[in-house]
Amino acid sequence: MLGPVILAASRSGVTRRVLTTAPLTRPVVSRFIAGETIGATLPVVKDMTDRGLDVTLDVLGEDVTDRADALRARDAYLRLIEALAPLGLEMRAEVSVKLSAFGQTLSGGHDLALSHATEVAEAAGRIGSTLTLDMEDHTTTDSTLAVHAALRTRFPSTGAAVQAYLFRSEDDCRALARAGSRVRLVKGAYKEPPAVAHQDKAEVDKAYVRCLKILMAGEAYPMVGSHDPRIVCVAQDLAQRAGRGPDGYEFQMLYGIRPDEQARLAAQGHRMRIYTAYGTDWYGYFMRRLAERPANLAFFLRSMVTRG
Ligand SMILES: Cc1cc2nc3c(=O)[nH]c(=O)nc-3n(C[C@H](O)[C@H](O)[C@H](O)COP(=O)(O)OP(=O)(O)OC[C@H]3O[C@@H](n4cnc5c(N)ncnc54)[C@H](O)[C@@H]3O)c2cc1C
Repeated sequence: MLGPVILAASRSGVTRRVLTTAPLTRPVVSRFIAGETIGATLPVVKDMTDRGLDVTLDVLGEDVTDRADALRARDAYLRLIEALAPLGLEMRAEVSVKLSAFGQTLSGGHDLALSHATEVAEAAGRIGSTLTLDMEDHTTTDSTLAVHAALRTRFPSTGAAVQAYLFRSEDDCRALARAGSRVRLVKGAYKEPPAVAHQDKAEVDKAYVRCLKILMAGEAYPMVGSHDPRIVCVAQDLAQRAGRGPDGYEFQMLYGIRPDEQARLAAQGHRMRIYTAYGTDWYGYFMRRLAERPANLAFFLRSMVTRG
C-alpha cells in the first residue's frame, strides 16, 4: 500500500527539494547509483564484468522540459559509448534509454526522441553493442513501441521493456515474440490508473508469468527483469521446457539489489545483466526504488536519523 503513496509524494516539488538538497540523502542513494560521472562508473562496470556479470548502463535523467536538455541527454549517451569503446565489452555492456530524456513528451517529441535514439543506436552499433528502450508511464507506451519498431528496421538488436502490470502487455508480448527481438519483461514501476493496469501485486505477478510464457514459447530473446525469487524459478523452468539454453535468455537485476543472487545466478552459468544507473539526476529513479520496497524507505529514514 505504501508504494503508490511514495510514488504520489515523489511528484511534490517540496519532497524533491528536501531530498535532493539534504546531504544525508547521498550515502543512501549511492546504494542504487553506481556513480555521478562516467569516470566514477567505469571502474564499477569493469569490476562487474570481471566477475562475470553483464551490464546495461542508464544515464540518469527523464522527463526533460526542453529540446536543449534532450540534446544534452543524447550527448551524455554518446560520451558514455565513447568511453565504453576501449573496454571492448561489445554486447556485454549495452545501454538503456528513457525516451522521455530524449524529449519524447515535448511537442513533436516522438520524432525528436526517434532521431536521438537513432544516433545512440548507431554509436552503440559501432562498438558492437546495442540499446534497450526502458518503458515509462502508459501514456508513452505506443510512442516507445513505435520508436522501437522503427529502430529495429536498421538496428534489429534494439530491445524494449514491457511492463507486465499493463493490461495490454500480453498482446504486446505476442507482437514482440519474433525472431531477433530482445524483450525485457518487468513488473512495472510507475503509478498507473486501474483503467490500464493491475493494481493488486498478486495479479501483477500472475500477469508477469503469463507474459513470460508467451516470450519463452516464442522466438524473441527474453530478458527476465526481476528480483523476485519465484519469477527466477519460473523463468528457469519455462526456459528448460522451451529448450532454451543459457544463451537463449538472460536475467536482469538492478545495481544494488540482491547482489548475492546476481552473483549466484552468474556462477551457475546464467547470463546476468545488471542495470547500472549513474549521473546526478537520480531523484525519479531513487523514488521508484523506495516505492518498490517500503523497507528501503525505513532503511533510508533510519540512516537519516542515525547519521543526523
Ligand atoms: C533490469 C531492470 C530494468 C527495469 N526497467 C524498468 C522499466 O523500463 N520500466 C519500469 O516500469 N520498470 C522497470 N524496472 C522495475 C520493475 O518494473 C520493478 O518495479 C522492480 O523490478 C521490482 O519488481 P520485482 O520484479 O523485482 O519484484 P518484487 O515483487 O517487487 O520484488 C521481489 C523481491 O526483490 C527484492 N526487491 C525488489 N525491489 C527492490 C528494491 N527496490 N530494493 C530492494 N529490494 C528489492 C525484494 O527482495 C523483493 O521481495 C526494471 C527492473 C529491472 C530489474
